[in-house]
Order: sequence, then structure tokens, then C-alpha cells
Amino acid sequence: MPELPEVETVVRGLRATIVGRTFARVHTSAPTASIVVSPSLPKGGLEKNLPDRAVLGVDRRGKNILIRLSGDLTLWVHLKMTGRFLYVDISQPLDKHDLAVFDFRPDEHTGSLHLRFNDYRRFGRLRLFPNHELMWQPGLVDLGPEPLEIAVDDFVALCRKRDRMIKAALLDQRFLAGLGNIYADEALHASRIHPKRLTQSLSRRKLIDLHAHIQRLLKHAIRLMGTSVRTYSAVNGSPGAFQKKLLVYGHEGHPCGRCGTKIVREMIGSRSAHYCPRCQKPGR
Ligand SMILES: [Zn+2]
Repeated sequence: MPELPEVETVVRGLRATIVGRTFARVHTSAPTASIVVSPSLPKGGLEKNLPDRAVLGVDRRGKNILIRLSGDLTLWVHLKMTGRFLYVDISQPLDKHDLAVFDFRPDEHTGSLHLRFNDYRRFGRLRLFPNHELMWQPGLVDLGPEPLEIAVDDFVALCRKRDRMIKAALLDQRFLAGLGNIYADEALHASRIHPKRLTQSLSRRKLIDLHAHIQRLLKHAIRLMGTSVRTYSAVNGSPGAFQKKLLVYGHEGHPCGRCGTKIVREMIGSRSAHYCPRCQKPGR
């Protein structure tokens, strides 16, 4: 699933391509669960509600994309497993997993380009809400702080508040918004913290370390346009490059870059965790 750096890359791609453009025809062929339009808006889905609205800006909150539209509406997008946006020429043949196609009013620079939302697993969500309703939606209202914005003392306090496994906490979007399995595993390995360690058992120094590694990894991954596993790509179709920098995620059975011990993959709760059994001892 795309995590913070991948979603940030998509957001930057959308900013560079669709901000300032005005929707014309919109066509969707998505399953009904994929597209939600607030009941307070006119019936007829995105096809009815998007045309003639201008894209004012694109924001990210955790792994959520918020496309700000004229008329106080926001198109709220979650890519989930395999959702992606592609900004391509209209003449390019449609793919059967292009679930939504957004045409814009012609403009002199980008007349023949349009936006497609492609999602072969079909867990992605496109939701349209008036702004005053958006801020109360579950999935947005309950998000934790942004990992690149939270101050170190606030991060320490957050971990101390409730005792739980650190890996589960890092994956919980209500705890911290934006991390997933890849960056949580990498940050714990960099900080030499076993994924099952309880948050309240970690020293202040360890938590300061973890905070620094989370921010370092996320910033580095954003610079490299994210990690490409499965189908993730930027809006221009190019893959990220951070997968070359991963040290534990997907490295099961390979030697740890620090100590040579084989990386293990273990189910913790319903998710797998990759870690080095030597660098990341349960009691340390
Ligand atoms: Zn190691």
C-alpha cells in the first residue's frame, strides 16, 4: 500500500498537473463502494458534480489525498492497495482498471492530457464532500499527527500515553498518520527496536532515536519519489526508487546490512514484521 512518501509524491504530481484546471466531462466505471458522493450534493455522482469546478489545490493528510475544488468541495482520495492517478494523453487506450476518467476544459498548454484513476484491486476510494462535512468524516477526523510535523517531545508523550506494541502503534493511523509496514519496519530496524516492544518500556533516548529515523527515512523516500512495490507509480507513470534503500522490508532470509544475521519475517497481529533478530532484541 502506498504510504506517506508515495502519497506525497502523488500529491506533488497532481499539484504540478491539475491545479488551475477545470473539470469538463467525467466518466466513472467503478464499483459502487469505490465512489461516495455526499447525500447533500445533487444526485448523479462525480459525473454530475465535478464538471465546471476548478482544482484550487491538492493537500495530503496521512495517506489521504485532498483535492480542493471551487464551490467549497473536496474530492477526498485514498489509494488503498493499488490505486493510482495517471496524467496521460487522451489518445492513450483505456485500461480496464481505469475506474474514473477526468477530462478538463482545454487549455493552451495541456489540451490533450487528462487524468485517470486506475485501481486493479479496487479498494481505492474517491469521495466528494462539501468542506464543512469533510472535516467530520471518520478516517480523517480521527487521524493522528503527521510524522514529519510532530515535535520530538510530543512524539515521546504520544508513546508514553498508552502501553502497546510499538509496531502496532506505528501502523495505527489514529496514532500517527502516514506510516505503513515498509517505513515502520525500516524505522524500527534503524532504531534497533524489536517490533513487539511495548511503547512505555522504551527509553526516552530510544524514542528520540525512533522519531529522528522516521523523519529521516520519510524525507529520503520523498526525495526518491517513494518505494515501488507492486503497482505504485507517480502521476507521470515513473516508479519510485526508495526500494533500493530498504534494509529489512522484503529482505526476509537476507543478511542484515549491519550485522549479517538473517532478517526474519514474523506475523505480529494481522501484519507481517521484518526485523533483525540480533540488532532488534526483544528486551533492549
Ligand atoms: Zn542486524
